Amino acid sequence: MAFKRKPEPFKIKMVEPLKTTTREHRERALKEAGYNPFLLKSEDVYIDLLTDSGTGAMSDYQWAGLMLGDEAYAGSRNYYNLVDAVKEIIGYPYVIPTHQGRGAEQVLFPSLIKKKGQYVLGNMHFDTTKAHIELSGGRAVNLITDKAFNTEEYYDWKGNFDLDKLEDFIKKHGRDEIAFILITVTCNSSGGQPVSMENIRGVREIADRYGIRVFMDAARFAENAYFIKKREKGYEDKSIVEIVHEMFSYTEGFTMSAKKDAIVNIGGILGIKEDVELFNECRARTVPMEGFITYGGLAGRDMEALARGLREGVDFEYLDYRISQVEYLGERLREGGIPIQYPTGGHAVFVDAKKLLPHIPYYQFPAQVLVNELYLESGIRAVEIGSFLLGRDPETGEQLESPLELVRLTIPRRVYTNDHMDVVADAFISIKDRAPYLKGLEFVYEPKVLRHFTARLRPVE
Ligand SMILES: *Cc1c(COP(=O)(O)O)cnc(C)c1O
Repeated sequence: MAFKRKPEPFKIKMVEPLKTTTREHRERALKEAGYNPFLLKSEDVYIDLLTDSGTGAMSDYQWAGLMLGDEAYAGSRNYYNLVDAVKEIIGYPYVIPTHQGRGAEQVLFPSLIKKKGQYVLGNMHFDTTKAHIELSGGRAVNLITDKAFNTEEYYDWKGNFDLDKLEDFIKKHGRDEIAFILITVTCNSSGGQPVSMENIRGVREIADRYGIRVFMDAARFAENAYFIKKREKGYEDKSIVEIVHEMFSYTEGFTMSAKKDAIVNIGGILGIKEDVELFNECRARTVPMEGFITYGGLAGRDMEALARGLREGVDFEYLDYRISQVEYLGERLREGGIPIQYPTGGHAVFVDAKKLLPHIPYYQFPAQVLVNELYLESGIRAVEIGSFLLGRDPETGEQLESPLELVRLTIPRRVYTNDHMDVVADAFISIKDRAPYLKGLEFVYEPKVLRHFTARLRPVE
């Protein structure tokens, strides 16, 4: 079945040349990078699908906003523009700008985690979110639907909470042991998979029954709203902003990395619906950690670009093109016999490396092998989401086995064309035939914490 591509709802008015390299050049570069593409120079990369964070292309309107930056320490006009945009798009009046999403996390979480060891219940927490929960004395628990782990089986809402697991957990541990519930939309860690409105409402109902607070990790709130419009009954005629308002009506506050759906290169937001006391407490914490309450680590010009990006990110035509590009890459890969997390999510296609390289055991990192081969084949940089990322058991030191070994192809917003997507799909298809001959990896250097960023590897002899 031919896939109907949505054309780009923009024209290109500035370009950055891409460098193509020879295979010999890439072999040398990868070796020098210790077989860890995080250590590659971006100049040696042709198509960079490492992340969709801060890598989007701003519009002419956003760039024009930079010139209107009011770099006042306190009360700049760009801050007030940002507050207006959040009120309009999300519907919350209390806004604190932060340097990025994790800035909002470090300002909010200490107010919500009241005693050491309290649980924060999520569908699936993002890694810095988990880290900030732990730094604030909490414990992060994932309660996502099991359907998320079956990559081949179609399911509309692979980001949903398992509501039975959620309620059982609360009953078992008691409400006093729960700090709050955090809903991540879309669920980055399960493949940019959406959470349905019904599920968000269900979380709220359970939380109300036990008197537990609910917050949103809102990095990809607009992409999530798009999926609700496309897939959930009763929402097909609602606008994205109407859907967004309803999503946030069930939560009390949000942390947002603006580097995703708000299409800026840097920035974050903490938003609060009505709890003025919480807002004041967070504001007090913002000053020593992020910056004064009306800039939070951002320049006035950054806040202006962010205010404008928030509005552009909820445009239906843009979202329709965006999600359709991700879907297009997924379709091309499936047609070529490459196993992926299906259906594709909002910001990335996840290739199932365990299925493609069944001969490589988890402790030799099959998805990392595939990431490296993709770079050697066509200069494309992807990222491993599997056992290499997961790391070792902190107590026994043993390598943990990840339930999934995935290669994440993260698509920057408004940056690459569908011809680039074809290059990516074709690269995988040429690798497929030689997949059985690829060799696993072993460590040459393994740092103790967050090892995947700086570790050095070599192919097993
Ligand atoms: C990116 C991201 C964060 C952290 O935001 P930064 O801007 O990178 O600090 C938190 N949660 C989710 C779901 C994210 O995708």
